[in-house]
Amino acid sequence: MPPVYLFKCKNLSDLIKPDQKIALFLDFDGTLVPIQKDPAQCFLMPEIKKQLRSLANSEGCYVSILSGRKLSDIRKRIGIPCIYYGGNHGIDIAGPGMRYTHPKASSTRPTILKIKHLLEKEIVDIKGTWLEDKKFTLTLHFRAVKKGDISSVKKAFYKTVARFIEETNILHSNTKGRKNNPPIPPLVKGGKGGFSNKKLLIVIKGKKVLELVPNISWDKGKAALLILKAIKDKCFPVYVGDDQTDENAFSVLSEEGITIRVGKSMKTLAKFYVKSYREVPQALDMLTITAQSEGIYEKKSF
Ligand SMILES: [Mg+2]
Repeated sequence: MPPVYLFKCKNLSDLIKPDQKIALFLDFDGTLVPIQKDPAQCFLMPEIKKQLRSLANSEGCYVSILSGRKLSDIRKRIGIPCIYYGGNHGIDIAGPGMRYTHPKASSTRPTILKIKHLLEKEIVDIKGTWLEDKKFTLTLHFRAVKKGDISSVKKAFYKTVARFIEETNILHSNTKGRKNNPPIPPLVKGGKGGFSNKKLLIVIKGKKVLELVPNISWDKGKAALLILKAIKDKCFPVYVGDDQTDENAFSVLSEEGITIRVGKSMKTLAKFYVKSYREVPQALDMLTITAQSEGIYEKKSF
């Protein structure tokens, strides 16, 4: 079913089960901030930070940020205590009373380093490319590359990584690819959280990025469920995200919670959508009112 425009329906508070606290999950790039050529230049607007702080401090809401960025990076950019932070698409999580790193993720580190060195040499002459080492994942950025050079970037990338990746698991995160494969599968086929018996890594094709991630059965949906488990209160989940990696979370949370895709895509498993990141503050406002409703909630228990 195509998603419904969020502000066409009733207030968010009417959709949330009464007497339940909210577990709010948010993506970062493209959801809380616009996507920039240089991801280092993405900063949270003070008004949104205020909203997040207010939600995180309210008795009725637990806030989590799940991002493809490195854990330390996303933590620094939000900078609010009492929030659960999931870096590297939820592979690495830290929050009140919780610290989790996927047990298989660390073993990919030597391979990530090796590929990093190989790729550095391959892309040195292509202007506008750069590599981001996020410990458990490695991202090749080419947003600043001339249109005519993009195919050379991709060629150089695949030539270098071919022997390390599970080709059948290449994931499409861009809008064009989305049409053919919603939702994306978990990060490995088969096995309970372990590597497939072939290659250590898979590729996620993002918005002007190619990303190498561990070939493990883990994604933002599983990360959200793990956080929900860590929260002692029974919570009503609300998830907001703009990208294909968020579809895994929509798929596991849509039945019991509110899922909101940022952007006008009709090919999503989310129940609702907002038109762009510019409308996210309005949705957060509605949640703040609900989360602060007097007399409903007892103190939060982490
Ligand atoms: Mg995003």
